[in-house]
Order: sequence, then structure tokens, then C-alpha cells
Amino acid sequence: MEQKTVHFTFGNAKLNNRIAILSLVAGTACPGAKDCKSQVVETENGNRIQDGEFTEFRCYAASMEIRSTNAYKLHKRNFETLRNAKGVQGKLEVLLASIKSQDIDKYCRLVRIHASGDFFVQSYFDAWVEVAKMYPNIIFYAYTKSIKFWVRRLNDIPQNLKLTASYGGYMDKLIDQYNLKNVKVVYSTEEAEELGLPIDKDDSHAWNFDGNFAQLIHGTQPAGSKASNALQELRKKGITGYHRNKKKNKAA
Ligand code: SF4
Repeated sequence: MEQKTVHFTFGNAKLNNRIAILSLVAGTACPGAKDCKSQVVETENGNRIQDGEFTEFRCYAASMEIRSTNAYKLHKRNFETLRNAKGVQGKLEVLLASIKSQDIDKYCRLVRIHASGDFFVQSYFDAWVEVAKMYPNIIFYAYTKSIKFWVRRLNDIPQNLKLTASYGGYMDKLIDQYNLKNVKVVYSTEEAEELGLPIDKDDSHAWNFDGNFAQLIHGTQPAGSKASNALQELRKKGITGYHRNKKKNKAA
């Protein structure tokens, strides 16, 4: 039987570090998403973006998926392949075959788990824990709102799997309860200062920094929303929040 694989994209991180990025479909693959939740819905008249009931700022990855049908299709295919793989073992086999088939173990020292999407079931989270253990020379990093999957495995996370809890989800209270490393989306540099948080612009705080941090609001926000107004203010001041690599979407 043909081995199923998912498809990574590639970018360049600091220090000429080649980074492999796995993306799943935004929103649909994010059980913990609340403030950020948006997703592409397919209609007879084409795809459109749909915000969630509690959306405060629109998911950047979902906005990208509306602009690029190819990206949307790829993310959806990756998600379906992993969702259909049975249990931890099935998902692990898919991830390992994909890493091998794209030579990620040969050429990348950094892997971003999800520029779009999140850990959607425990078995998928557990599969990544196993992958990280098998490749101790690669740093794997992820932002997540699927906090409960992390909390259940707190004592089993290898050093090279760098997780950052992202505020704005249904499981925020677990972030405080377990004192997890975290990131907050802020609407201004002043807000970050008041919180005492450094602002990350290139993801390095997610994989090369141990403390909490902030990221400035970015992307395309619904007109008239607080997020959209904040974004306009930042642009007027010439402040840009996040510098994307060419093939890299941002989501947290
Ligand atoms: S920002 Fe992240 S967690 Fe939120 S909907 Fe988008 S991909 Fe999912």
C-alpha cells in the first residue's frame, strides 16, 4: 500500500537555518482556538472566510488560505492525511515518512510544527513528541492553543520540542495554572511594555528564548474591529509586527 505523507514547505530562519514548516487547515484543525478563530468555508460560489462566534482578531493563516487556493488545498490535504491515520502509531508513521521523503532530517535543524492549524487530537500531539525524541539534533517548535494535550504530557516533553502556549483560546486557564511559557497578541508596543513582555518579530522567541513574549497584531483584520483599528495605528507609526519568511504563514 502506498505510504501516505504530508507536505512541508521551507523557509529560512536566523543564522541561515533552513526551516521546514508543516501547515494544517486553519480553524478546522484548531480545537482550542477562540479569539483568533477563522476558517475557510467552501461554497458554490467559491471559498470565503468565516470568523468564529468569539473572534477578536482574524487568523492570519485563514486569510492566507483565502488568497491562495493552493495553500488551502495543501493544508486541507495534510490535515486529512493525519486525521485519517490511526492512533499515535499511524500518525507517527506519516510524519516520519514525510520527514524522510523531503530530506528534512538531512537539511533542516529547525522544524516549525504548524504555521497554520494546531494539535487537533491527543494522538497527534503524542506523535510529534515521539518524532522529537527520535531527532534530538533538530529543534521542533510550535505555538498552541491545544493546551490540554500538552498538560497531559508535561513530564514527557523532550528538550528539543519547544512549545509556546498562545493566549486567546478555550484553555487559557491551564496556561496560568501550569505556568506554561506563553505568547500574547498585543495591539501596541505600549501594551507589550506594560505587560513587561519583549516583542517577537521573527519567531526566534518561540524556539530560542525561554521566557514569555508578545507579538503585535498583524494580518488582515475585519473592518472596523478593534484589531483593525490597532493595525492602522501601528502602520501609521511605521511599525510592522511580524516578518514572514517567503513561504511561511503566521498563526499562533
Ligand atoms: S491563529 Fe492559529 S489557532 Fe487560531 S485559528 Fe488560526 S491557525 Fe488556528
